[in-house]
Amino acid sequence: MKSLSGLKNSNTAAGRFRLDNCADDKLHESCGVFGVYLNDPERDAASLVYYGLLALQHRGQESAGIAVMKDQAIDVRKGMGLVAEVFNPEILGQLKGSAAVGHVRYSTAGSSSIENAQPFVSRFKLGSIAVAHNGTLINADVVRELLEDSGIGFTASSDSEVIVNLIAKNYRKGLEKALTDTIKFIKGSYALAVLTGEALVGARDPNGIRPLCLGKLPGSAQGGSGGGWILASESCAIDAVGGEFIRNVEPGEMVIINRDEAFSFIFSEKTRRAVCSFEYVYLARPDSVIDQVDVYGSRLRAGEILARESAVAADLVIGVPESGIPAAIGYGKATGTPFGVGIVKSRYVARTFIAPDQDKREKAVSVKHNVIKSEVRDKRVVLIDDSIVRGTTSKRLVTILKAAGAREVHIRVCSPPVRCPCYFGIDTPHRRDLISNGASIGELCASLGADSLAFISVEGLLESLEATAERSYCLGCFTGEYPIPVSGEQR
Ligand code: SF4
Repeated sequence: MKSLSGLKNSNTAAGRFRLDNCADDKLHESCGVFGVYLNDPERDAASLVYYGLLALQHRGQESAGIAVMKDQAIDVRKGMGLVAEVFNPEILGQLKGSAAVGHVRYSTAGSSSIENAQPFVSRFKLGSIAVAHNGTLINADVVRELLEDSGIGFTASSDSEVIVNLIAKNYRKGLEKALTDTIKFIKGSYALAVLTGEALVGARDPNGIRPLCLGKLPGSAQGGSGGGWILASESCAIDAVGGEFIRNVEPGEMVIINRDEAFSFIFSEKTRRAVCSFEYVYLARPDSVIDQVDVYGSRLRAGEILARESAVAADLVIGVPESGIPAAIGYGKATGTPFGVGIVKSRYVARTFIAPDQDKREKAVSVKHNVIKSEVRDKRVVLIDDSIVRGTTSKRLVTILKAAGAREVHIRVCSPPVRCPCYFGIDTPHRRDLISNGASIGELCASLGADSLAFISVEGLLESLEATAERSYCLGCFTGEYPIPVSGEQR
């Protein structure tokens, strides 16, 4: 067991589609988690969690929730919509308690409904717990069946409810044992923020597929009992509440913070680290640092590597906003091609639900992006995108760039072709809807209407992520090789 402060070392550095999300045919994050434990029991943690969740809003816009702990009891509020839609000062004012966990959700397992909104809370004879989970359990069905056979009822279809029920079932063994027994039983990806009547707990799956980091809140200038601890999916959320980033929670590590102490331990055998490479490509905010790698820096490097691997003569390089822009800057610097803002993304596209047919998806893309005609007219343009999933966005962007007068459009992509589904917490279309599945680069280029097309190589992506033998990544959606065997892998 280790003191947390002594570890300040490892990081210095179903049919419904949202217009602002699926319409741009990207892969989508499943969730974001945020937890706070304040040393002063008279202070309220809910408003800090609110701000932390706002900073993690990009990880899920479907529902939001906050659970607080006061006098060993847990109170929870959650609802459908954005964080600012679900919470207001009045609701936050009702959430009294000096420790809290929060969650923003994008559904990957279980339907999009209030029943599946998190944190999940269980109240039982020995106490109460609230669980906020980012990831997907690949053995949730089996565990659920076992729990149902032992008489435990479920209220939701989300795999995350399995975790809360397992912890509740094991609770008579004591908190630590209940948590470790639960975690040894579940398989898949998880970054957890758990609140009990006495502690805030964080845990990360043995491969570290989904990110989780630890921060500290400063005490008051006068000393005393101020300050506290933070758990967050991304470091940008620690920054957002004025906290100090301490380090990442390590794969297979559990962190426990209570009134008397803060400590951590490794609960699993050492396993190959397999952090989701797509976090860096697209999912995470550029101002976050995950496992010692700066997300913005990795995107810049991807552009430089694309320049080395597949440069083309051009007059202008532009990035598809937002995540294609750092790579476009990197590509421009490396090739000497002028960088410009050729495409504008609407910031105010409503969180509207639309039917998932191709026609409506394409229309949604036109609402979302527009071209600065004077910037691209008569130019040979390199268009840098972070990824191509269904191809809807790329096809539409080539069309509107050419309609605006671009002479040539060359697409360069910062990730290898997405050919396989994700089973670890990222929403991917069915394999048959992945445009790169089964198609050659030439066929893809022709179907997108581009003058040339190139993807970064797998080796290039790993280089951009500063991969080493110790710092390894999941590349499953590109290569079909997953960190955990997935039975019946056939989507
Ligand atoms: S399969 Fe792809 S999206 Fe899923 S965890 Fe692995 S790299 Fe990330």
